[in-house]
Amino acid sequence: MDPIRASEIERRKYLEMLDSFPTVAIIQSILAATVLCYCFLSYGVTTHAIVWTALFLISILYRYWLDRGLRPFIVKSKPTKKQLALLLSSRAFIGLVWSIGSIGYIEASPDENFLAAIIWCSALAYAGCLFHQNSVSALLCYFWSIILPLSVYMALVLDCYKEAFILIFCGIAFVILYIQLLHQKVITRIDETITKERLIEKLSNANLSAKLLAEQDALTKLKNRTFFNQKIVKVWRLSHKKQQPLSVVILDIDHFKAYNDNYGHIAGDKALRKIAKCIKQINLESEHSFFARVGGEEFIAVLPNTEVESAVSIANLIREKVEDAAIPHEFSSCSNIVTISAGVSSIIPPKGRSFIELIEMSDKALYQAKEGGRNRVSVLTIQHHAEAQEQLLQKQAVD
Ligand code: GH3
Ligand code: MG
Ligand code: MG
Repeated sequence: MDPIRASEIERRKYLEMLDSFPTVAIIQSILAATVLCYCFLSYGVTTHAIVWTALFLISILYRYWLDRGLRPFIVKSKPTKKQLALLLSSRAFIGLVWSIGSIGYIEASPDENFLAAIIWCSALAYAGCLFHQNSVSALLCYFWSIILPLSVYMALVLDCYKEAFILIFCGIAFVILYIQLLHQKVITRIDETITKERLIEKLSNANLSAKLLAEQDALTKLKNRTFFNQKIVKVWRLSHKKQQPLSVVILDIDHFKAYNDNYGHIAGDKALRKIAKCIKQINLESEHSFFARVGGEEFIAVLPNTEVESAVSIANLIREKVEDAAIPHEFSSCSNIVTISAGVSSIIPPKGRSFIELIEMSDKALYQAKEGGRNRVSVLTIQHHAEAQEQLLQKQAVD
């Protein structure tokens, strides 16, 4: 296994261990502590009960406080040696407290309590391992900190060597089996989870790149017509909902056919890329604003929450940048370099109307810019539009 993956498994193992202090473990601990305290009190050893309960509470709170403190670090990377030592110390502390309690219980009446204390202690040690299955070291610390002091006490104080030996022998067998059967499963499960997560990440990244590619113009790397078609509907609806002005600028290269015919298609593509570069230099501040290449040599700027004056400034800025790029164009009637014309229009989308009207207005404004001599920006607002429509109707009536 590669070291990065091994380290990630290690990190997750400890993170899971921190999170495996479930309610059931707390309830189990509190009930067991209540039983032990009751036994102490029934033997009249109140001081034992108080001291032990205090120790028990400190050990639980220490673990809780430590786990909470270390969690943010282990979320980022696997624990350092110092952090690990702290983690293990908290587990060993809890085990030791149980062991001390059990020894105190035997001491209260050795003949009567010996067997009960061994069963009780073994149950606590074996069952508690469930919450430490992710980390062999934590499991060993917790388990042996209960079993070892008890075995030593049995052997050295009570001379019960046989019982102490059985306790340790069964403990070793249990720990080996536990590690073989459960710990390996944990590693395999975490390993599989990482594989799945990485696969999902790769898939979503691939999906995202495919989506971005599908909405990008291959030549200029600006957004393409498909993106524009989808986005304009959303932007129109949003502007209508918020009752904010939506401005649209249509930009068209002047005499580009002549450019292509004389300099060739490859030079034409190069000029298109240069112009796209000028457009990309403009910082669009308003959310959901975008530029797109919507036709051969036509670009659009969709500018929600933008007043017409700002839209005109943006259009002029692009026009100036294209002029600054100074792409020679000997065959243009309006200049000796490549220039662009722009049509701007703006509207607060009214109810029941379509964005097509706004695009048509910008298109008409562009036509005016072309008619007016090119390399300029023209604006058409609602009033202008209405006047133009009226003039057209009058003209038709006269005809
Ligand atoms: P106007 O000033 O009135 O806009 O004149 P124009 O010549 O720019 O307009 P017209 O619509 O007659 O010509 C557009 C030209 O743009 C036609 C074609 O040669 C060129 N064109 C369109 N798409 C591409 C492209 O992807 N690459 C290249 N190199 N040229 C393109
Ligand atoms: Mg055109
Ligand atoms: Mg053109």
